[in-house]
Amino acid sequence: MTQTQKPVLRFAPSPTGMLHIGGARTALFNWLYARHTGGTFLLRIEDTDRERSTPQAVAAILGGMRWMGLDWDGPEVFQAARAARHREVADALLAAGRAYRCYATAEELSAMREEQKKAGKPMRYDGRWRNRDPEEAPPGAPFAVRLKADDSGETIVHDLVLGDVRFANDQLDDMVLLRSDGSPTYMLAVVVDDHDMDISHVIRGADHLNNTPRQLQIISAMGWAKPAYGHLPLINGPDGAKLSKRHGALAVEAYRDMGYLPETMRNYLLRLGWSHGDDEIIPTAQAIEWFNLESIGKSAARMDYKKLDNLNGHYIRATPDDILAAEAVAFLERENPPRILSTTARARLLSAMPSLKERAKTLVELIQGADFLYTDGVRDLDAAAQKLLPPEARGLLAAALPALAATDWSAPALEAAARTHAEAHGLKLGQVAQPLRAALTGKASSPPLFEMLALLGREESLIRLRAYAD
Ligand code: GLU
Repeated sequence: MTQTQKPVLRFAPSPTGMLHIGGARTALFNWLYARHTGGTFLLRIEDTDRERSTPQAVAAILGGMRWMGLDWDGPEVFQAARAARHREVADALLAAGRAYRCYATAEELSAMREEQKKAGKPMRYDGRWRNRDPEEAPPGAPFAVRLKADDSGETIVHDLVLGDVRFANDQLDDMVLLRSDGSPTYMLAVVVDDHDMDISHVIRGADHLNNTPRQLQIISAMGWAKPAYGHLPLINGPDGAKLSKRHGALAVEAYRDMGYLPETMRNYLLRLGWSHGDDEIIPTAQAIEWFNLESIGKSAARMDYKKLDNLNGHYIRATPDDILAAEAVAFLERENPPRILSTTARARLLSAMPSLKERAKTLVELIQGADFLYTDGVRDLDAAAQKLLPPEARGLLAAALPALAATDWSAPALEAAARTHAEAHGLKLGQVAQPLRAALTGKASSPPLFEMLALLGREESLIRLRAYAD
């Protein structure tokens, strides 16, 4: 990359499963850096493992990226479709004497490894065809193409995150570039694609660090420019152990289904491995402005679900009511079977949103707390609501109904009527209001009662109240 060129980033998932939380963070960091610099963010689907790659996984990754709001520039590149180009590069390396044909059979190679194991030596290809005349191979025998790797000196990865990491070249064997069936290996494909896509920065998980010196060797054998590399430290579970399913090493869709907002996920994943002073709340627009590679942390990050919940509560409150209501409606429509809200139900949800969003840390909580708004009819009482409706409370409820029914059913009139009624009978307002709330919503807490009565309307409210009045 010359000074005047803008960075070109990529996210290169293998479609063998969902977009999980670690992959989403890698995608986010690449995206943020591209957006921060005005560069380009490309998506490459590394589907060279034909047995394990599935169209469902491709769809899940694209869906996960879209939900996260990580848009990529230009059409996605499918690596498997580029196999002819990968072979072309292997042939160029052969022609230049930087690669060679290896005729070792699978049996020979496993016998070689067996011996190395017995002798307590590291198991790696011993270079048996490196300097051997290919004429010695049986005619027509299948061969793999291997890189003639540097076998002395060292390869230094100048990592943007980890600093210089040194690898002794005699520890790296002559890796396979083309298998004997002619298929390119992952190691070759990544290098060729990064080159052809003009990638300036390879930002990826630290689990790829050991691949980098090998990839650098292919790059230098081709005489290509090296991209800059940055390897992101792993994400651990809350206990510091490797992130597992139990810890929430889940697909990003699982977080969506638990009721987290995309903005929350972007902020949360940003803070898993990147910092800006003590700032915790970093909305995406701010993140784009601030993001840099220098502030990526060197040590493993830890999942912290309490922090995730608190952030989500923040973004729920910060989201405009209409957008949040639309999110809630979309959430309900994803249920199986889909729950489609009537126009009335949608309007009620929207009106109650200022109050609903104050009480919820996730969309799931918000939706559960709002069910009395989008389903009609007599409520089932939860345990806390049952406690508010013992027989004497039901009597109080029945006694208050005529006063309420005599109003114009506006919130102020209902509240005034409830107060007057309570005072006249020597009761506190709560003694009248709590049974009303329980019958109306099926819960012991809800958005402001009189507003909810007005919102649900006279007819619907009275159906619910009368069911528990006697
Ligand atoms: N396809 C690799 C993976 O999903 C990533 C390769 C890379 O980023 O260089 O782990």
